[in-house]
Amino acid sequence: MIDLHSHTNESDGTCSPEELIQEAVRAGVDTLGITDHDTFKGFDQAVPFAAAAGVQLVCGIEISTKLHGHSAHLLGYFLADNGIGDFRTWVLDQQAARRDRNLRLVARLRELGFDITLAEAEARGKGMTGRPHFAQIMVEKGYVANLRRAFDDYLDESARGYVYRREPLFAEGVAHIRNAGGIASLAHPVRVKGDVAALMPELLDAGLNAMEAYHSDHTASDTALYLGLARKYGLLVTGGSDFHGTVKPGVNLGTGCQGNLSIPEDLLEKLRARDP
Ligand code: AMP
Ligand code: FE
Ligand code: FE
Ligand code: ZN
Repeated sequence: MIDLHSHTNESDGTCSPEELIQEAVRAGVDTLGITDHDTFKGFDQAVPFAAAAGVQLVCGIEISTKLHGHSAHLLGYFLADNGIGDFRTWVLDQQAARRDRNLRLVARLRELGFDITLAEAEARGKGMTGRPHFAQIMVEKGYVANLRRAFDDYLDESARGYVYRREPLFAEGVAHIRNAGGIASLAHPVRVKGDVAALMPELLDAGLNAMEAYHSDHTASDTALYLGLARKYGLLVTGGSDFHGTVKPGVNLGTGCQGNLSIPEDLLEKLRARDP
């Protein structure tokens, strides 16, 4: 079984790189893509554990971008030398922008009466501290009933506690991935605000060359829609569960939510050959 979208505790997942590999073995996933947000640290650390366990690792990354003012996630795969060089420098810039946002987010949350420090959040987030970590703290301290409320009431783009973060434009993200020799895939297209079918010409213009048609958030008809768009525009297809460990308890490696995910094995060869 293959799964090309997963997170470790170097970003907002709960499994260490070693635990994620154990989880892959347990789930019967023999080819695993690690796609932490804005960091390669989880992948780097997983390499020896994967080799020992006989799991084939695919180096990946998930980048948050802005598309027409809304958040759109991009996956980068098969970067030359696993993204060593300029691409990693650019990734570090994204981390710096995130840290700057986190400082302002702490100030905003304190204004709203919450006793939360940056150190507390960073203790959970390590290489990439994000809003999900702030949400976890808010639940643990009893400020909100659950993660959903933390986002809906405070952390979501439209909520009271939201603070701006400098994010690359979608086209900029795609360009960085493609210039590093990678495959740029539109992550969980079902979450993109707006009509993806109508946006396609613009996304292609930006250099997008793959579509995450298989994802644990997708219904069968979503998958059919995005496979159809990939076929129509000659895009490669990627797929994965978006496993985050215990923070997204219903999502399983390889099989998604209650078995809603079934990723064809031949997709990997097509990606390697860059041939849809
Ligand atoms: P950040 O990159 O720190 O701004 O946090 C973004 C992450 O927060 C996303 O990758 C999601 O995992 C999570 N997230 C964003 N909006 C929501 C929401 N409305 N509900 C739940 N999780 C969200
Ligand atoms: Fe995430
Ligand atoms: Fe995502
Ligand atoms: Zn993800």
